Amino acid sequence: MQLLIIKGDLLMKNILVTGGAGYIGSHTCVELLQKGYGVIVVDNFDNSSPESLKRIEEITGKKVTVYEGDVRDGNLLDKIFSERKIDWVIHFAGLKAVGESCVKPIEYYNNNLYGTLVLTDTMRKHGCKKIVFSSSATVYGDPEILPLTEECKTGGTTNPYGTSKYFQEIMLEDIYKSDKEWTVVLLRYFNPVGAHESGMIGEDPKGIPNNLTPYISKVAIGELKEIGIFGNDYPTHDGTGVRDYIHVTDLAKGHVSAIEKINGNGVYTYNLGTGKGYSVLDVIRAFEKACGKKLPYAIKPRRAGDIAACYADASKAKKELGWTAELGIDEMCSSSWNWQKKNPEGYRR
Ligand code: NAD
Ligand code: UDP
Repeated sequence: MQLLIIKGDLLMKNILVTGGAGYIGSHTCVELLQKGYGVIVVDNFDNSSPESLKRIEEITGKKVTVYEGDVRDGNLLDKIFSERKIDWVIHFAGLKAVGESCVKPIEYYNNNLYGTLVLTDTMRKHGCKKIVFSSSATVYGDPEILPLTEECKTGGTTNPYGTSKYFQEIMLEDIYKSDKEWTVVLLRYFNPVGAHESGMIGEDPKGIPNNLTPYISKVAIGELKEIGIFGNDYPTHDGTGVRDYIHVTDLAKGHVSAIEKINGNGVYTYNLGTGKGYSVLDVIRAFEKACGKKLPYAIKPRRAGDIAACYADASKAKKELGWTAELGIDEMCSSSWNWQKKNPEGYRR
């Protein structure tokens, strides 16, 4: 269907990584390059910096091909698929802030849903029908049972971001139902944290962080005064919210396992978590150990929309992909701290 313009594309498997300059995308690019894949990134840098791509090249000593632009731009995607042989697409691009999605639902549905539609339409046109999609544990809503298995009910999402992930899963399932040549991998991430062991790439949120570990990092570095704990009256072991934190490097490796192990068309759904739940206080203690100082915190009211506890049954990914999370809470906190110390202003964007 397409002309092979770039010499060398015939020899290696190329992965188009949408949103590859972002937090999870950048770590995944590193793992892909280290495994010998060709990496092509499309990113509009709406929530990232081109600097992360330079650092990926420094870490791996390999080149990343970059197309700056939006996945909703069908002409740009057409150009990429015409110029390159793409074997798989890993689709990270999208907006991800829960709170912001309640204020800007149109922008969230437009970016996340329309982006996925333009991307899959272009993939179909060029005969590339293998996609790994960044889904989230948020599609389970408020869990009825724990740990969450892939069979647990989805839907019942409480914000436009979560609903957009749920809708995108349904869209991709429908695409497969209509054309059995597709391979759709839905990876439901639990709580990605930590940074690459080099401290060269990591999470770089704009403004005041919404998520727990970036917030703790900013308190540890002295940029913010104290951690606010959103509620200590949940039915958990110490009253604070429990989540399944997963090291971003383990998460990145999960994507590589998916493209290496999945052989055959269909829809494949996996939880990517550790299976262990840690409370907010557990994470603060682990971070104190990592940074070697006491971190001030104050108990605040519960945050709207939060659930008491959420953790994965990750046995399906272990059984079918041979993937399991290897890094624990101490490595998650020490790598976050290493990144924060080395890059107090992130990528300075
Ligand atoms: P991120 O914001 O760091 O990365 C997303 C990247 O996509 C950014 O580089 C951004 O500039 C880019 N982007 C956004 N819209 C785009 C568009 N229309 N066209 C091209 N590029 C665009 O976020 P992340 O934490 O790396 O998350 C990656 C994916 O994983 C997202 O889809 C997110 O919803 C999903 N996810 C994240 C988490 C989490 O806690 N970080 C949890 C579950 C799922
Ligand atoms: N949390 C907190 N203070 C913060 C940020 C988060 O107490 O400043 C709690 C939150 O209530 C939840 C956990 O930390 O129990 C993880 O929240 P985060 O926003 O990182 O991820 P979520 O699970 O909401 O996607």
